[in-house]
Amino acid sequence: MLEMKAHCEKCGAATPATGKAHICSFECTFCPDCATVMQCICPNCRGNLVPRPTRMRTPAASA
Ligand SMILES: [Zn+2]
Ligand SMILES: [Zn+2]
Repeated sequence: MLEMKAHCEKCGAATPATGKAHICSFECTFCPDCATVMQCICPNCRGNLVPRPTRMRTPAASA
């Protein structure tokens, strides 16, 4: 399952699972402001940052 990191890796702003954030394919997580400043390029791995899907609740555990 996608790891929902709770803070921007650049500025430390909160990026709760229910809020807006951008991630790269390695799950580096940044707030929308930092993603914009960095032109949606991850500074760690040079990958594209894309809007992270929000998670309003955890899915029910499969039986
Ligand atoms: Zn940030
Ligand atoms: Zn990255």
